[in-house]
Amino acid sequence: MDYFPAFLKLDDQACLVVGGGETALHKVRLLSAARARVTVMAPGLCPGLQARVDAGEVQWLAARFDASALAGKRLVVAATGGDAVDRAVAAAAKQAGLWVNVVDRPELSTYITPSIIDRSPLVIAVSTGGGVPVLARLLRARLESLIPSGFGRLARFAAGFRQRVRERIVDTDARRAFWESVLEGPLAEEVMNGDEARAEREMLERLASADTRPRGAVYLVGAGPGNPDLLTFRALRLMQQADVVLYDKLVAEELLELVRRDAQRIYVGKERANHALPQEDINQLMVRLAQDGHRVLRLKGGDPFTFGRGGEEIETLAAHGIDFEVVPGITSASGAAAYAGIPLTHRDYAQSVVFVTGHRQDGSITLDWPALARPGQTIVVYMGVSTAPALCAAFIEHGLPADYPVAIVERATTARQRTITGTLATLPGLIEMHAVRSPALIIVGEVVKLAEKLGWYRRIGERD
Ligand code: SAH
Repeated sequence: MDYFPAFLKLDDQACLVVGGGETALHKVRLLSAARARVTVMAPGLCPGLQARVDAGEVQWLAARFDASALAGKRLVVAATGGDAVDRAVAAAAKQAGLWVNVVDRPELSTYITPSIIDRSPLVIAVSTGGGVPVLARLLRARLESLIPSGFGRLARFAAGFRQRVRERIVDTDARRAFWESVLEGPLAEEVMNGDEARAEREMLERLASADTRPRGAVYLVGAGPGNPDLLTFRALRLMQQADVVLYDKLVAEELLELVRRDAQRIYVGKERANHALPQEDINQLMVRLAQDGHRVLRLKGGDPFTFGRGGEEIETLAAHGIDFEVVPGITSASGAAAYAGIPLTHRDYAQSVVFVTGHRQDGSITLDWPALARPGQTIVVYMGVSTAPALCAAFIEHGLPADYPVAIVERATTARQRTITGTLATLPGLIEMHAVRSPALIIVGEVVKLAEKLGWYRRIGERD
């Protein structure tokens, strides 16, 4: 280990930053965040630093560097960018016995600063020993995505209970079990979502009974349209802490691989006309698993509240007093639009967009045709592959021209995406000719022409 990691307490400590540019500003920002008393020494200042000086947050010595400025300081930063000045600062500071950092010059510095992930009071510091700061920054970006933004709140919340938990649960193993059940369960999610008041009440109740059993909960999580890169951070995190995962047909294999390895996986199906588990059974299963103390992940294709029956599922959960949370996902209409190059709205071609289902109920498609079949509107049809002939005929019957533009996007956003464009008259034949299968979306509207106009297909390569 070339450097000894440490966190300095700089509260009200006098620090000197030499330099008046953007780099100096960045350092001043961090030092001020740690409540240091900062003096900047430079003949001139960038606007950001000037604003801080004007606001009285920072003192300014309007002069070139001079060692007399070191008197009474605890820490020094040289950020002038000029080799001679930086060297002079480093030498003078070392002589005065002060810790000095020269930005991007570890060889001149007596300390270096890490890349940080700030979830105060939780702070994670990453260092490559000053060798490859870009690598530290890349690693930082990865960690940022794994650590929820509310983690600082959680750290603060837990710290506030530390003493009480220690007094109430004396046995160390039991105490660890207690903290694990708190920090990995719904109570922690409540804190991170900002509902500390509720979490505090529950914490007190649990402490009173020294209850270390994990509390069950259901997370209804949108997995997006299929491409794993389109998951949300929150979805990924919940996938990695779930005990049980209930997934259906739309959830791709690659996505399931991101679920915690030892989580139990339950396929609850749903193919058209071949429901692996009726909805009511899925609802009851979730209730039972959560009551047994499991953290249940209900993983759904796209967005749970867009043709996802998420509404019905949470009704049952609420009726049984089960904790739940809904995590939105990118709905397939957004995914298909983006990846096929078809804007859903456009100033000239579509001022509104409507999502409908082409699924038959009792054998007929019940849609408000006159409201749908109008120009200046994009219609996205979910679950419409098998009813496409009836859909297209109905649109024409209700006034849209037979040559009105239509696209069908199969397995949108995945490596196997296919986009086929045609008209209301030709689409049914195209579906048959290309053997288009579910999942696919039909997009009806003049915006479809834009994808062709923009040469989108050539760019992403039509795979046919
Ligand atoms: N909740 C989902 C929709 C579920 S209904 C969402 O928000 O996307 C199932 C229908 O969604 C499918 O029949 C298909 O029309 C559409 N769909 C889902 N994923 C798709 C994908 N990757 N490509 C095209 N259509 C998709």
